[in-house]
Amino acid sequence: MARLIKEVAREAADLVLDDFWDGEFPVDPMRIAEALQIEVWTANLGPDVSGKIVKEANANARIYLNRDEIETRQNFTCAHELGHWWERRERGDTEFSFVEHRGQLRNAHEWYAEHFAANLLMPATEFTAECEDGARVRDLMRIFGVSRAAALQRCRSLGLEIG
Ligand SMILES: [Zn+2]
Repeated sequence: MARLIKEVAREAADLVLDDFWDGEFPVDPMRIAEALQIEVWTANLGPDVSGKIVKEANANARIYLNRDEIETRQNFTCAHELGHWWERRERGDTEFSFVEHRGQLRNAHEWYAEHFAANLLMPATEFTAECEDGARVRDLMRIFGVSRAAALQRCRSLGLEIG
């Protein structure tokens, strides 16, 4: 099950990159959201919520990012919300919402969104190539515009060793 989610999320992220990414690193999920006509706002969400996405009928989806979080985290949360959006769109849902609580229990939708975000910001081919070229964690953070935790998680997920 987990393996299947991982693969489906990767395929979805690849499709979105093919159609809506300008090819420049770091991948800018805000621009991709804009291309998909999704509004992105920063907001005061309190200390326990990283972000949320709200889609109402006959309206554009709106993503809210916690304005107190650093840019790399906001970007990852934005990419995660794009994952929720894509999954729902594929199902034909026109109304939905997700809220990202820190440390919340994971379910299949959250796993999907998390893998989607990792694949969107750190595409496997390029990420692997950088690691094989000897990139260190701080290089990966800079190239892909992600936090240290996200870069390390991606290495583990792809079975890569880094110096
Ligand atoms: Zn989520």
